[in-house]
Amino acid sequence: MTNAPARHAPIVILGSGPAGYTAAIYAARAVRKPLMIAGLQPGGQMTITTDVENYPGFADTIQGPWLMEQMRAQAKHLGTEIVDDHIVKVDLSKRPFTLTGDGGQVYLADALVIATGAQARWLGLPSESKFQGFGVSACATCDGFFYRGKEVIVVGGGNTAVEEALFLTNFATKVTLVHRRDELRADMTNQQRLLHHPKIEVVWDSAIEEVLGVEDPLGVTGAVLRNLKTGAREERKVDGVFIAIGHVPASELFKGQLTMNENGYLHVKPGTTFTNIPGVFAAGDVTDENYRQAVTAAGLGCMAALDADRFLAAIEHDHAAAKAGAAA
Ligand code: FAD
Ligand code: NAP
Repeated sequence: MTNAPARHAPIVILGSGPAGYTAAIYAARAVRKPLMIAGLQPGGQMTITTDVENYPGFADTIQGPWLMEQMRAQAKHLGTEIVDDHIVKVDLSKRPFTLTGDGGQVYLADALVIATGAQARWLGLPSESKFQGFGVSACATCDGFFYRGKEVIVVGGGNTAVEEALFLTNFATKVTLVHRRDELRADMTNQQRLLHHPKIEVVWDSAIEEVLGVEDPLGVTGAVLRNLKTGAREERKVDGVFIAIGHVPASELFKGQLTMNENGYLHVKPGTTFTNIPGVFAAGDVTDENYRQAVTAAGLGCMAALDADRFLAAIEHDHAAAKAGAAA
């Protein structure tokens, strides 16, 4: 535990993904001296992917970790202070808001931007993590393009899995959906589209037991499927495995303080980043169950910084008016 004094900043930004860095860039340019708390995954989800082809501004394929280094450098260059800490407790009941790091360091924020993101749910297989970014993905929108003319597996039975499977038919020659039960959770319209699609095969009651691949260069070559009812195993040759078994927003810290939907995504007033607490703003995947892209997270981060700046400016204006009134 630390005895260090509390650190106070006009705008504290929690999280260092595209939403956090963009909020930092805008807050720094508004001369609000932002303090960013980077968390356990500096750079966020984009640091666990490789090729990125859909972030605007780059004609050539770029690497996710490189993109996040550029954002970090830009945020720092403009005057953001970045600390490597992980927040374990927040008190949003009064301003300044209080955040406590896992070593006991306390941070005080006049305005808070929450950009803690979300994490894809994974199966938890060692072979899955080995090939993450090298044939195993949790984002068809991001990586589907790399599977032109190839065969892929999608795991899951919800709307995301079905939509990802349908989307992947734009590129892949064959898509195999592997689901652990014999009925889908996805809505009927999606189910009908999937079940009637000529490029899609569904393998029911089955799980992936192992992702198969080669070392040099690292890449997926297949998967071992196990039928959960019969125990029968079969090997499928595929070039990619997409895991689509849900996402978990990093909002646990705010339970009981901020309103969120039944899946844990922070609620914001539509068209803004306002949470239910004035002065607390939320941006990026932690509020966005729908799009979950780097560019949308960055856009929301920009909005959050502008909202936070205007919130502080309104308070400063009220203070100045009250002071002028008292002096008159
Ligand atoms: P995140 O990137 O999730 O960052 C969250 C940040 O919050 C992290 O820095 C974390 O350390 C921090 N944090 C969390 N909890 C705490 C805490 N308690 N205390 C302090 N800090 C905390 N999108 C694209 O547009 N193109 C792509 O090609 C693409 N590829 C992807 C590939 C993969 C494998 C994955 C998983 C995602 C991909 N995405 C892609 C999606 C994209 O990465 C996300 O939409 C984006 O990163 C969301 O940004 P964010 O800032 O909201 O949160
Ligand atoms: P979801 O609805 O929770 O579905 C997750 C799927 O993954 C389920 O089929 C589940 O199987 C399976 N699964 C979970 N853990 C697994 C594991 N360890 N191994 C194998 N399979 C596993 O998640 P989602 O599809 O990401 O959707 C999240 C929310 O967003 C839902 O409310 C969804 O309706 C919504 N959404 C809506 C749309 C749309 O309306 N167009 C699009 C996308 C998402 P079981 O079925 O057996 O539990």
